[in-house]
Amino acid sequence: MGRDSGVKVAVIGGGAAGIMAAIAASYQGAKVTILEKNPRVGRKILATGNGRCNLTNVNLCTANYHGGNPAFTHYALERFSVKKTINFFERLGVAHKIEEGGKVFPFSNQASSVLDVLRYELDRVGVKVLCGSTVSNIKTRKGSFLIEFQDGEELNADRVVLASGGKAAPNLGSNGGGYALAKNLGHSIVEPFPALVQLKLAAAFFKQVKGIKFDGDAEIIVENKVVGQASGEILFTEYGASGPPVLALSRKAGECLQKGKAAWLKMVLINTCSRDKLERYLIKRFSDNPEKELAFSFVGFINKRLAPVMLREAGISDIRKPAGHVSPAERDRILHLLQDWRFPIKGTTSWPAAQVTAGGINVKEIHQHTMESKILPRLYFAGEVIDVDGDCGGYNLQWAWSSGFVAGWSAAQIGG
Ligand SMILES: Cc1cc2nc3c(=O)[nH]c(=O)nc-3n(C[C@H](O)[C@H](O)[C@H](O)COP(=O)(O)OP(=O)(O)OC[C@H]3O[C@@H](n4cnc5c(N)ncnc54)[C@H](O)[C@@H]3O)c2cc1C
Repeated sequence: MGRDSGVKVAVIGGGAAGIMAAIAASYQGAKVTILEKNPRVGRKILATGNGRCNLTNVNLCTANYHGGNPAFTHYALERFSVKKTINFFERLGVAHKIEEGGKVFPFSNQASSVLDVLRYELDRVGVKVLCGSTVSNIKTRKGSFLIEFQDGEELNADRVVLASGGKAAPNLGSNGGGYALAKNLGHSIVEPFPALVQLKLAAAFFKQVKGIKFDGDAEIIVENKVVGQASGEILFTEYGASGPPVLALSRKAGECLQKGKAAWLKMVLINTCSRDKLERYLIKRFSDNPEKELAFSFVGFINKRLAPVMLREAGISDIRKPAGHVSPAERDRILHLLQDWRFPIKGTTSWPAAQVTAGGINVKEIHQHTMESKILPRLYFAGEVIDVDGDCGGYNLQWAWSSGFVAGWSAAQIGG
């Protein structure tokens, strides 16, 4: 489209960031080739938002981003903003709707619509797409690049956009291989760890409570201080906890563990009233039916599979004794667990279960206005491969669209 800059741009990785970089470079008249190891581009896009693709968020601000320097994201997120992203997809045919928390989805509720129109646009603007092409090395040669493939083939390019993703969800293509490519070209990598991922907690009873959900609060506690808090539906799993609040806090937990700090997950099962009110309620509940077995007396209040586990954790061995026989000290321990149940965090589940990567290419080595390498001119970065990760809610795709757009646009410019 537009003028022909004649610049040959190779985009490594055909995910959200790479596709957007290719389209933007093409709009600027570059001759663009996407190199993608999967048989098709955009595989991860299809998996996003539970198959609905939460493509951005109208409440976006810099505080939604994390990494070595979240302010690094500012320019790209302004240059190709949420509004521009929505308009871009509307122009391509994806009508949008805004849901709770500002999350934006295609009106069709299909992630495939997003990918379909992107592939159509790639075709329309003449981007060459080479699938089944795993890049194994990038060499510099007299001011240009020689890209080597795993199968021995090679490709020349004037500019390279590295949009190879992070390590999260390797079954969808990105497995961290892009870090090695960047390292060979002189870049440093902030040690990656999984984010937006379940937490593994230390307790013997998880098999018994697996599958139980409740609406409550979750907090990350380090050195007795709350360092993160989130509310919503929390799910007990076989190894610990999951659910939106836990996923939201997992980055903080991973960061603490990476620094060797001990961290706890505090769960607040009953977050709808004060401790005093809850105490009065329990006293009444026990005294209304004093002959009921203690574990049974919780039926209708908390999940009936959780009650026996909670009572044993409260140090009550005879959970079948009459509710009227609960001592004030025992009631105190029950109350405590209902509003402050703490579990040592052993770790997170690993890459296959993670939605995003924390860490990646050090942003100190990238120009924020162009996404160009400060170490090697004419090399650009976009998307999750960079040390930037966002909260859950459309922020990671927005980063991929924005950084991809800026990288592709800049890579296509003549001169430099
Ligand atoms: C299950 C799931 C659900 C998600 N849901 C949402 C959501 O609803 N909203 C949101 O904002 N974010 C969501 N995310 C996060 C979001 O999808 C990613 O942050 C974003 O897609 C990253 O885009 P990317 O282009 O940087 O990387 P990727 O999408 O990982 O693309 C990188 C591409 O590079 C290719 N590649 C890697 N190495 C090479 C190589 N050496 N040679 C050639 N090709 C290579 C890979 O095959 C891959 O196709 C979700 C993630 C997951 C896993």
